[in-house]
Amino acid sequence: MSSMLVVGSVAFDTLHNARGSFPKVIGGSATYASLAGSFFTDVQLVGIVGRDFPDELVQTMRSRGIDCDGLEVADGPTFHWEGQYTDDLTSRTSLKTELGVFADFDPKIPERFRQTPFVMLGNIAPELQLSVLDQVERPKLVVADTMNFWIDGARPALEKLLRGVDVLVINEEEARQLSGHHHLVRVASALLDMGPRTLVIKQGEYGAWLFAGENIFNAPAFLLEAVDPTGAGDAFAGGFLGYVARHGNTEPETLRQAVIYGSAVASFCVEGIAVERLLSLSREDIVLRVQRFRDLVDFKPV
Ligand code: AMP
Repeated sequence: MSSMLVVGSVAFDTLHNARGSFPKVIGGSATYASLAGSFFTDVQLVGIVGRDFPDELVQTMRSRGIDCDGLEVADGPTFHWEGQYTDDLTSRTSLKTELGVFADFDPKIPERFRQTPFVMLGNIAPELQLSVLDQVERPKLVVADTMNFWIDGARPALEKLLRGVDVLVINEEEARQLSGHHHLVRVASALLDMGPRTLVIKQGEYGAWLFAGENIFNAPAFLLEAVDPTGAGDAFAGGFLGYVARHGNTEPETLRQAVIYGSAVASFCVEGIAVERLLSLSREDIVLRVQRFRDLVDFKPV
């Protein structure tokens, strides 16, 4: 079993949805991805928090096999994001993005993490993702996530990044924005032309598509009533890469299974507020849900 390196935001989130307001719950792209990955493999986390971040959460992550030695604790407030969801949870508006200590984040990959074969570049500025790429040594697979904020605001750096990553995981709306196309076939072809040899397009409550050469695969979403979709994308990416790292290869079948396992973890993530459901989840729960994913698409041809 190989380990995976996760770099991204570790945050406080204030969430507003039809169920109420949830001030300063734990969030961040790296938090979700690390917790999701930890069900499959050892995780090394690189990020930054302020002294206001609860040590208890760091200890919880450590107890799950997440090495937090690369989590810098700096003077100043932890990154804080505030979001308002529509009542049907299908879209959200960012109300606040308070960078705090994240403003001066300059990821330093500890020496002993540099040869980690599987690397997850969580959603942060593409310049920072590029700096991580410069520090790691011959990784087997690099997965990157991004968002509209960087597609609009840091496109040249994002294009440079895409030439250096193996897998881009991106939601459908952002995939359209980045490619300039609408139809999925064209979107996928344009994004693959930008560098990555594998692409995963997430469609939220409709599942996900995998494009890896001839290996094209569609996974359904699990049918459930979401409570809070925050972090689902990061949980998907962390579960996907964690599964690949556990198996140590990128064979077509492994990638297909990884999409299902990532989807299974993401489906649990949305069942609770913030990381709460990921913290109560067991590996057995995931295995059972994967079986139910299989049942969803199982049929006898003729
Ligand atoms: P997701 O719902 O998968 O898009 O991820 C939500 C997480 O992204 C939240 O927990 C936020 O803390 C984090 N986040 C929001 N905006 C940013 C940003 N500009 N940079 C890094 N992380 C962010």
